[in-house]
Amino acid sequence: MSVKLPIYLDHAATTPCDPRVVEAMLPYFTEIFGNPGSRNHQFGWRAEEGVDAARRQVADLIGADHKEIIFTSGATEANNIAIRGAANMYAKSGPGTTGRGHIITSTIEHKAVLDPCKRLQKEGFDVTFIEPPKDGIVTRAMIEGAMRPDTILVSIMWANNEMGTINEVPQIGALCHEKGVLFHTDATQWVGKMPTDVEKDNIDLLSFSGHKIYGPKGVGVLYVRRRKPRVRLQALVDGGGQERGFRSGTLNVTGIVGLGKACEIARAEMDKDGERLLALRKQLEQAITSQLDVVQINGHAEKRLPHMTNISFGFVEGESLMMATKEIAMSSGSACTSASLEPSYVLKGIGVGDDLAHSSLRISLGRWTTSEDVEYAAQAIVRAVKKLRELSPLYDMHQEGIDISKIEWQAH
Ligand SMILES: *Cc1c(COP(=O)(O)O)cnc(C)c1O
Repeated sequence: MSVKLPIYLDHAATTPCDPRVVEAMLPYFTEIFGNPGSRNHQFGWRAEEGVDAARRQVADLIGADHKEIIFTSGATEANNIAIRGAANMYAKSGPGTTGRGHIITSTIEHKAVLDPCKRLQKEGFDVTFIEPPKDGIVTRAMIEGAMRPDTILVSIMWANNEMGTINEVPQIGALCHEKGVLFHTDATQWVGKMPTDVEKDNIDLLSFSGHKIYGPKGVGVLYVRRRKPRVRLQALVDGGGQERGFRSGTLNVTGIVGLGKACEIARAEMDKDGERLLALRKQLEQAITSQLDVVQINGHAEKRLPHMTNISFGFVEGESLMMATKEIAMSSGSACTSASLEPSYVLKGIGVGDDLAHSSLRISLGRWTTSEDVEYAAQAIVRAVKKLRELSPLYDMHQEGIDISKIEWQAH
């Protein structure tokens, strides 16, 4: 079999740049190097033209107007500007008010949403963290149940970065618009992979990142609605007033041009890519579940992104499994938490037990993943799991029919 090792199956952590993206960027390093803020000469104008074209490519991908696109350093910054910027702008004050306002988010958000929300909590806002059930889906009904008269902001991710599960974002957006509450979604795993229309989907603020959609790292987008309603935000960084004052600082022109190209490609190719990747993911899951027992696919069976899966392998540590399959790049837990050996808070958040959360792998396929790659990876994983289980006395006991959950372990 002709596969090229190592095999990269961690596209939810980051993607390689598409060569067409790199090609579009190159002139902007050397020839068209002007500052788009330089309004009085050709170097500035040409750089600004590049940025404007990219702004339109980005807007076209999500059904926005180009004036509603704010370029940032990535999804982390976009989330911070959206959440902290909106909370501080719309905070309650004056006589008769108790807290500064109420915010709704979920326990399975990325840290780049959870941490700003926790900061706001310390600053006097009330925050409700919705805990989705075992299928991992945050629904409109859950948000409706948490709404209060003083709710000012709802922030719910579109697709989860560990499981790929898809939340009821258009429905939640409709609810927020009925109630006159601002709605932000961290769409970093969704945009560029699935069709997005900020109008139809009732979104006020939306974040995503270049490097998750075959664009460069260090550049991202915040969509800020300009009408019905016109969203106002308190800036986090003050300075030259670029990006309508929401995000001062000289624009990352090369990055922005690359991100624009990545959006154009994604728009043209997402249907074809999605179909191909769904078939590959099914091939992967089928190969694994047909050859191993005590495996569980985490999150909703259908409501998830085509290109990724999260599988728990009973009686095996995710970290040991990755060590035993070094020629395949995957993720145990999420990339952001894999520095610690805590089990994934996302899996724990939907009620996956510590043992199975510790034994999980996230496998995410991408634009250049082949059927041979998937077959090779599946067989390598199956072999490694079988081998690790040979060393597991617990797996022996399980096979002998002993119910391990009923064993009373001696305290130590
Ligand atoms: C990757 C990711 C982020 C962070 O994006 P950066 O551009 O790396 O800051 C935020 N949210 C989600 C859901 C992500 O997957």
